[in-house]
Amino acid sequence: MDPLYDELKDYIYRYCERFMTADEVDAKRIALYHFPSMESEPVLKERIVKRLWEQHQHELPLNLCPVCNRIARTPKARQCQFCFYNWH
Ligand SMILES: [Zn+2]
Repeated sequence: MDPLYDELKDYIYRYCERFMTADEVDAKRIALYHFPSMESEPVLKERIVKRLWEQHQHELPLNLCPVCNRIARTPKARQCQFCFYNWH
């Protein structure tokens, strides 16, 4: 099973930019700001997230739920989007 589910991919793509290369960040910015509906954007996202996961899986600052161990919506979120556990 692919350990990367959509919410985790979104989180990595959005919040783990410091693990991306300058080229990846540039490509991401261009895709997001100039071509929000561009077809290649999901491809770009998939490629960047996959590389980060392969090379930095254990360094990525993931905000995981203490109960179900799945990803929170943002780095500061204190409630799980899956099981709704609240760790405030
Ligand atoms: Zn949870």
